[in-house]
Amino acid sequence: MPAEFVAALPILETIEAAGYEAYFVGGSVRDTLLGKPIHDVDIATSAYPEEVKALFDRTVDTGIEHGTVMILDHGQGYETTTFRTESTYTDFRRPDEVTFVRSLEEDLKRRDFTVNAFALTKDGEIIDMFDGLSDMDNHILRAVGEAEERFHEDALRMMRAVRFAAQLDFKIEEKTLQAVKDNAHLLANIAIERTNVEFTKLLQGKAARYGLLEMIATTLNKYMPGLETVDIDLIGYADLLADQQPANDEEAWTLLAFELGLTPEDAGLFLKKWKHSNDMVKTIKASIKLLNKLRLGDVEAWDLYETWAAIDNALRVATLSELVVDVPKLESRYADLKIKTKNELAFNGGDLTKGMGLKPGPLFGKILATLERKVVAGDLANNHAVLQAEAQKMVEKETNK
Ligand code: ATP
Ligand code: MG
Repeated sequence: MPAEFVAALPILETIEAAGYEAYFVGGSVRDTLLGKPIHDVDIATSAYPEEVKALFDRTVDTGIEHGTVMILDHGQGYETTTFRTESTYTDFRRPDEVTFVRSLEEDLKRRDFTVNAFALTKDGEIIDMFDGLSDMDNHILRAVGEAEERFHEDALRMMRAVRFAAQLDFKIEEKTLQAVKDNAHLLANIAIERTNVEFTKLLQGKAARYGLLEMIATTLNKYMPGLETVDIDLIGYADLLADQQPANDEEAWTLLAFELGLTPEDAGLFLKKWKHSNDMVKTIKASIKLLNKLRLGDVEAWDLYETWAAIDNALRVATLSELVVDVPKLESRYADLKIKTKNELAFNGGDLTKGMGLKPGPLFGKILATLERKVVAGDLANNHAVLQAEAQKMVEKETNK
């Protein structure tokens, strides 16, 4: 039993001593059986949320309406969820209500795939109600119960199917796969944030190529923003991931936007549709800008100046995309830039107002931006007198218009 489970044993023991059942469940049990490291330990219990809270000094209501209470123990948090069933799905997403139950079997039945539906007892025994162990041996991803019905209940499970296939390098079982094909359109009902979580994990899976090809074969992509009509490009992208994976979310989405041939502006719109954070959009737009220039072989000083904050990400994506870059040359060109930020410009807004008596206005910004560009391009020295003379010229030109 991995150390993470051993550390959490006192929690199972406390719950059981009070007369309830408690098990480790979900991804951590699956990953342990696969010999993979685990991240979060999830616990399922027959105790109701209020009963769980009564047993522990420190708990947080992280999702109490779904039966989830976080138990804090030795600086660790353990998500503990009451056994539950889900009922009356009217809109292909999440149940209208969850019902707490005392039966482990009912709880395992609502889980998505057989390899995600194990329970592990405190004595290290695996409870396997749906032949998940045999699917695990055969590297098969199979829906628990009737796939069709399960995808109607929650259409996100179809995205999870291709995500887990990509992460685990498991083949999607035939009936499960057919049910994804038949119901792909239901993905349109799912909040983009939820689809994003699964797709982002798919993109980084060791079998991302397989997951992507199944995603396209089942037409799931037709219900994903910006990917509706790009099958061919997506296959090209999938082929890049035959024996390599992006190492983080940013790399994955940068590579995708780059391979789709998007401009920085279109990449920004694409990422916004997926509700990515502003920080992520910013880094990816800068990366795409630089990568597009690198591909064309016409990187200018200004491009380096503008995009350098994203250089690490951009270079890793260049490697993934098999774009050859002369990195030392790029670095020395950057090192040679006369200024690295606007603050280093030897002339500023104060020099225009106090020094030259100009009032802030449209011309103001135009002058400073022009000086910045010229200094970066090497057309002007970063010297106060030189820049002031240039600014003076611009002011005169404007006033003589
Ligand atoms: P990861 O390692 O990526 O966290 P995981 O299997 O733990 O994978 P989670 O999304 O954390 O996945 O969910 C935990 C468990 O809850 C799953 O293993 C599965 O049993 C169940 N589960 C999660 N989402 C769904 C869903 N949409 N439908 C059915 N069961 C689900
Ligand atoms: Mg998990």
